[in-house]
Amino acid sequence: MRRLMLVCCLALGTAAWVDLPPAAAGECPGNPNALGTSRVLTVTPGEFTRVGTIQYPDTLPLNNHEVVITFDDGPIPPYSTQVLDALASECVKATYFLVGEMAHAHPELVRRIYNAGHTIGTHSQDHPYAFRRLSAERVEKEVDDGIASVDAALGDPRGVAPFFRIPGFSSSKKAEAFLASKSLVTWSADVVADDWFRHITAKEIVRKAMRRLDRRGRGILLLHDIHPATAAAVPMLLKELKAGDYHVVQVVAAGERPASVPDLVVAHASDAGAPHISPRHNRSMVAHRAFHHHKRHALFHHHKKRVALNSEHRRGFFGMFDLAGHPDAGVAQR
Ligand SMILES: [Zn+2]
Repeated sequence: MRRLMLVCCLALGTAAWVDLPPAAAGECPGNPNALGTSRVLTVTPGEFTRVGTIQYPDTLPLNNHEVVITFDDGPIPPYSTQVLDALASECVKATYFLVGEMAHAHPELVRRIYNAGHTIGTHSQDHPYAFRRLSAERVEKEVDDGIASVDAALGDPRGVAPFFRIPGFSSSKKAEAFLASKSLVTWSADVVADDWFRHITAKEIVRKAMRRLDRRGRGILLLHDIHPATAAAVPMLLKELKAGDYHVVQVVAAGERPASVPDLVVAHASDAGAPHISPRHNRSMVAHRAFHHHKRHALFHHHKKRVALNSEHRRGFFGMFDLAGHPDAGVAQR
């Protein structure tokens, strides 16, 4: 079912999604051959606790040649922006698992993701190394802080889906029990494309994604919108999915959520002497933007380094079993 934003209700603060038939590919403005989004799958926490066959027995109930596209670790410009542009041009809806510190640094991207109609889940506050070894207190803090950061960036906690992906797929019974106790659906994946590998090319990402999808026939696909190769791969991947007669399924959480949130329009400090924020935007964000404008690159490299460390650790750990790990895939697929 397609969802229509009831903008008219915004002023009353009672905006809600309304189910409509899914957009057919031919209905995508400016792109008659678009891949499109074929249907919306509504997930009720409790109905699903853990999904994704890379780690768990269960996964989402997808039909043959249906794919759920997911992006982890962002948002970060310009790569998240490029991915959003590619998804928009094909009228494809995805599910994002945002990192709290990244959302805090780029609230304008969090809102753009949401207002484009994508689903937003969370992925911890700062993507800690070896999640499975964290204390129970630290797990709770990572989960809760990550959700709080994305809530704050979005400006409306009702917009964040109760979906969580454990960093590095580094799960533990303790973490899984905590997530279930909070009625969060823990997402693993069914298919990875190795897009976190150093020096992987966009073509290689597409080739791996398609080969593995073809083998399974369907599934939750894991990608990372923080990598330049992934950003370059997404337009090609969407075309390959269309050519392969795949259908994109969007996953949403049951319940009402805001139809949209106020956009943040951020200009570079050099343009006007100070960051400029849309009048609709909460003034408190001005200080955050001024700070993060200067911090942006440092944060990005910090995050990339953390992800690289995690990746190397897990590759080494699993290497003796001819398996490979990465920030969000405990097992590589051949
Ligand atoms: Zn991750």
